[in-house]
Amino acid sequence: MDFSAPVYQGYTLGQALGLAGIVAGLFIVFLVLKKLFSGKRESIHTQAVRCSCGWQGRISSLAGKCPKCNLPLGDRKAR
Ligand SMILES: [Zn+2]
Repeated sequence: MDFSAPVYQGYTLGQALGLAGIVAGLFIVFLVLKKLFSGKRESIHTQAVRCSCGWQGRISSLAGKCPKCNLPLGDRKAR
């Protein structure tokens, strides 16, 4: 295989492969970054609350309840 022979609009096979490698590399970086950011993002269905009994943490914003005293907490949008 001749890597210096033009294969597409004057580009050689070596250049084409290099470009494909760069694109693939950028794509992988993009996927990794996307995964990192989506992992950090908080769910829209949970919210951080502090209960009057002293418990605090994340509960469902649709039907939240304190796991300690069972008091209804949060927005409870599912009401
Ligand atoms: Zn509580």
